[in-house]
Amino acid sequence: ETRDYQASDAAHHIHAFLDQKALNAEGPRVMVRGEGLYLWDNDGKRYLDGMSGLWCTNLGYGRQDLNAAAARQLEQLPYYNMFFHTTHPAVVELSEQLFELLPDHYSHALYTNSGSEANEVLIRTVRRYWQVVGKPGKRIMIGRWNGYHGSTLGSTALGGMQFMHEMGGMLPDFAHIDEPYWFAHGGELTPAEFGRRCALQLEEKILELGAENVAAFVAEPFQGAGGMIFPPESYWPEIQRICRQYDVLLCADEVIGGFGRTGEWFAHQHFGFQPDTLSIAKGLTSGYIPMGGLVLSKRIAEALVEQGGVFAHGLTYAGHPVAAAVAAANLRALRDEGIVERVKDETGPYLQRCLRELFGDHPLVGDIQGTGLVAALQFAEDKATRKRFDNESDIAWRCRTIGFEEGVIIRSTLGRVIMAPALVAGRTELDELLEKTKLAVDRTAQELGR
Ligand code: PLP
Repeated sequence: ETRDYQASDAAHHIHAFLDQKALNAEGPRVMVRGEGLYLWDNDGKRYLDGMSGLWCTNLGYGRQDLNAAAARQLEQLPYYNMFFHTTHPAVVELSEQLFELLPDHYSHALYTNSGSEANEVLIRTVRRYWQVVGKPGKRIMIGRWNGYHGSTLGSTALGGMQFMHEMGGMLPDFAHIDEPYWFAHGGELTPAEFGRRCALQLEEKILELGAENVAAFVAEPFQGAGGMIFPPESYWPEIQRICRQYDVLLCADEVIGGFGRTGEWFAHQHFGFQPDTLSIAKGLTSGYIPMGGLVLSKRIAEALVEQGGVFAHGLTYAGHPVAAAVAAANLRALRDEGIVERVKDETGPYLQRCLRELFGDHPLVGDIQGTGLVAALQFAEDKATRKRFDNESDIAWRCRTIGFEEGVIIRSTLGRVIMAPALVAGRTELDELLEKTKLAVDRTAQELGR
């Protein structure tokens, strides 16, 4: 029966970011059930999900409170729009919960169905803001090389994945600066010096383009899909200073960092800066149902509401009642069960300490990054000189494949393996994640003769 699913999938379905022919030859794993941090495939094999699905199932699988919230809302009002001078209690409650969590600096949100859409809406909202305040020339969005903001056209252009740009994903009025990855690009500089150097690139880019043309700088507080990169501490304060100095909006993509991943509610709080907008999705609903959004600071919201008139933008499913009900239940659970505090005080420090104990001197691992319940192991040929393997992507992919065999799901990105388990993970699950990841990394090292 697994083979039937695979054959039918191969006949009709194109998967994301994969060589479809190779996938069809191998046959995808058919996932059928989830409970807590565990997944089962159609052949009964169990996996510890070390990636929260795709950085999203923050509450783990099988939460009855989220299911019940969806079921209740489906019965009561499965859909209504926001266009006809209308709203509904589910979205009102979600907004109340969201802004209780957020600092006073923020006041309004636009809702979407995904992170890509959140960033798509961001691009238009930022441009609209500058029109409204009388600076319509400010149109250029600056992102970062290797940043990831989604797969729609605008979010692809904003992101810095060159292979995506080459596949028809570039637009005018987008620019990029380098990623702040010290291990790879830091050379002789200290991390602190390198962080400042990378931030100064933003200033150089703004001056090159003309501050009167630059609308916003957009980045993930820590870079996720492009390699799980944590910038040096000197980076974000300097970026913030530059944005303020040149009147460029500072926009944080919190799609994977938001809702507790780092042990703070939002990743920008971990790094200590104050963005003008936050793009959110994934952990907003713990992935149980698609939903995203764009959070605006009071300054932006006030301009749009008080001076902006009609903003010609709308999505049929914005603030969808069922998604909003699930999101509200999700936020309630994260708050009432003290899950984010536990990541900050207990499970996060435990995971990070154990990773450094297990892999600090490992012959394959050159660097360990992360905080809270997100971490990456960078493979390296020589740790002391930070020399990376020429085929590092193949090595990390191999490690991730062995992980699947051992029953743990970790992700590979370039020369790194990444983990981001559900925030409800306890010591037992974290111990299993660590043990199986160690097995996978050891087996990879053995195959390389190290
Ligand atoms: N922004 C970031 C930082 C992401 O990691 C992702 C997805 O991985 C997105 C945006 C796009 O979100 P979605 O896949 O929901 O469109």
